[in-house]
Order: sequence, then structure tokens, then C-alpha cells
Amino acid sequence: MENGDPAFGWVGGALCLDFANTVGNHRSRDPREKLRSFEHLVGWCRQANILNKEESKEMLHRNATVPAQGERLLHMAVDFREALFRTFSEISQQHQAPKCDLEIINDFLARMPITLQIESRNQSLVCAMTGSVLDEARLLGPVAWSAAEVLGAPEKLSRIRECAGPDCGWLFLDLTKNHSRRWCDMDDCGSRAKAKRYYRRKCEKESQSG
Ligand SMILES: [Zn+2]
Repeated sequence: MENGDPAFGWVGGALCLDFANTVGNHRSRDPREKLRSFEHLVGWCRQANILNKEESKEMLHRNATVPAQGERLLHMAVDFREALFRTFSEISQQHQAPKCDLEIINDFLARMPITLQIESRNQSLVCAMTGSVLDEARLLGPVAWSAAEVLGAPEKLSRIRECAGPDCGWLFLDLTKNHSRRWCDMDDCGSRAKAKRYYRRKCEKESQSG
């Protein structure tokens, strides 16, 4: 993590869900936005291995000289994220994905005409984007592909869950054998729920004995 980047969560099991989870307490009245600047967006892409260190530096440098450009990319990313959040949240409740949000996702996909090439580097093969690639495609193309991949796979769609924490709103793929995952993170919402149950039981016992 670079200095100053927020701590992002990586519990989604798919890049598109991890990106939807770049807000803390998404369901509360006071959600915690983690993409508060263009630097944070680039920081997320760096942590997601979408950009390497040099590419992050270059992306920040290029957009720092035109600050309005960084702002534009940030707004676009946040709108895209909210469309992903609404779409996958509805799907987790066995509802239809909102048509207008699918349009936003499709618009986003249409803006990324990327040519992929397999290149040989350091005796291994890598998949590289070539041609004139827009910054939005460079930053969020892999997230959009991940969304398209999940939305097009019925076996993955049936595994989309939203955390049972009342305010949380984080989304994930439930890959447990018995389809029993309820929490984004057992050390977070899971342990909070456990503590709540413990205190409730303790209070009940105390009121019974008192
Ligand atoms: Zn949670």
C-alpha cells in the first residue's frame, strides 16, 4: 500500500465486487467513501495489480498536469461503481438487475476498445494492452471485464451475496461448499455479530437471574 491510500478490502472473490466494495458501510446513512481522490483510484488499481508501480506513477503524472482530467476519471469510476453495486446487490436478493444500471455497465464496456496481445517478457508470456488505450480503459477495463464475466455466468450469479451486516453492503461470491457464507469478513462484520449475540445472551441471563 502506498502512503496515504485508504485500506481497501479484497474479500469479494471477483475484481468487480472488490471494486463495488470501495465504500465502507455502504448501506448506512453515513457511508465511508474510500475513493476520495484520483490518487485513491490509482492506489486501488495499483493494489489490484491493474497497474504496476511505473504505470501508476505515469498515470498520476499525466493527470496531475490536467487536474480536471483526474476529476473526470474519478467521477466516472464512482458512477460505474454505484451501477455495479446496485446491479450485484439486486442479484444477491434474486431480483432482476436494474436495466438502467446494465446500460451504464454496457456504456462503460463500449468505451474500451482494447487490443490484447501476448508478449514475451523475461522468458514468460504476458497479456498486454496495446494501441491507443484510454485512461478509463487502462484503469477500469479489467473491472468491466470482470463484471461482464460474472454477469454472463449463471453459476457465479447464483453465488453473489451481500454481507448480512446491517450497514455493511459489501458484496462477495459465496464459494463455500454448502453456500453458507454470510459475512464479508469473519474478523469484521462476523465478529461484530458474534459479540452482539454474546452480549444479548449475557444481558438476558443477568436480567433473568436479577
Ligand atoms: Zn460486512
